[in-house]
Amino acid sequence: MAETNWGEIYKELGAKPIINAIGSVTMLGGSTPAPEVKEAMAQADISYIPLMELEEKAGQVIADMASVEAAYITSGAGSALTLATAALMAGDDDDKIQQLPDTTGMKNEILIQTRQRYWYDRCLELAGAKLVEFGSEEETTREDLENAIGPNTVAVHYYAVEQDIDPNALPLEDTIEIAHAKGVKVTVDAAGQIYPLENFGKYVRMGADFQCIAAKYMGASQSSGLALGTSEMIRNIGYQSFVGYEGRRIRGVGRPQKVDRQEMVGVVAAVRRWFTMNHEERLADVETQSQNMLAPLQGIPGLNAVMLDNIIGHQPFGVEIEVDESVAGMSAQDIVDKLKAGDPPLWTRVRDGESNIVLHGFGLSEGQDKIVGARIAELFGR
Ligand SMILES: *Cc1c(COP(=O)(O)O)cnc(C)c1O
Repeated sequence: MAETNWGEIYKELGAKPIINAIGSVTMLGGSTPAPEVKEAMAQADISYIPLMELEEKAGQVIADMASVEAAYITSGAGSALTLATAALMAGDDDDKIQQLPDTTGMKNEILIQTRQRYWYDRCLELAGAKLVEFGSEEETTREDLENAIGPNTVAVHYYAVEQDIDPNALPLEDTIEIAHAKGVKVTVDAAGQIYPLENFGKYVRMGADFQCIAAKYMGASQSSGLALGTSEMIRNIGYQSFVGYEGRRIRGVGRPQKVDRQEMVGVVAAVRRWFTMNHEERLADVETQSQNMLAPLQGIPGLNAVMLDNIIGHQPFGVEIEVDESVAGMSAQDIVDKLKAGDPPLWTRVRDGESNIVLHGFGLSEGQDKIVGARIAELFGR
């Protein structure tokens, strides 16, 4: 049904729909809401509800599923990070809540390992906090953190990457132990750490005060996300939320980061689906999809295409293509450019600092996996 008018809604506007072989990336639309999520969102349309109450009830249902004290639905994981920093600086003090992003008189420094600087850490600064690095490019020690904590430190941030654990970073266990001994909170970016299921909420269960999760990775709207944490942390995040403008007549920093009631119940449906679905089936489907992309690429001179077998996190499997330009006659970037110039445009990418093309099936609709393989093979006369 959807196939016959693929992309029509965009074409009517004069915009060009693309085949997304990159995966769950915000620029291309994040993810396709699961049927259960769409159904829940449609049901939510029918009636109005005070959003402070819905946030509280929906948050509790999610917290129970994730086995953490409390949860709050936000406008993406990025907003969860921003609201968390605001909550840490202002606490439950209404004057301070209304003073941000001016942090005069508040502790406003968030420590981050030099080795763990990453693309989204900008979201930690939007409410007025300042990022302060500790440790070196080479490693981070316990002493580095002990020495870095000062009178203005409000939290230590940790970036969780279970797919590729950094042996030279200071582990979260040490971070929590040292920070809490000095009365400093710990925040964790675990946006994509949702599989294996025990990783969902794990960092808060380990003792972190807060972690985020991006709903874009779970088959919900990419404009939604989750803050998980202690009751105190989540209550203070709620004080920063957009609902406070009318709900409490107190203006936090969260007003431009709205979440609609449909999105809230959509996130609940997405989390419920995630905790109850058959993940072996999900993984088997993605593996087949990756094999379908890979099959036409075998035996092409200059291309070494292999299946990726990582299943941790939000985006399992995939195909990696190493390109030997001298044999293939084009570079990895040439291939990416040619695919993008085709009809319909096929988007793939060479990640920053790498020379391989990595394909993921997350954003493909039914049957597009075979098209991806065929379109690449076609560039080589296959
Ligand atoms: C996607 C992502 C974010 C941002 O999440 P949004 O829901 O898009 O705001 C933050 N951190 C990490 C590690 C991510 O992958």
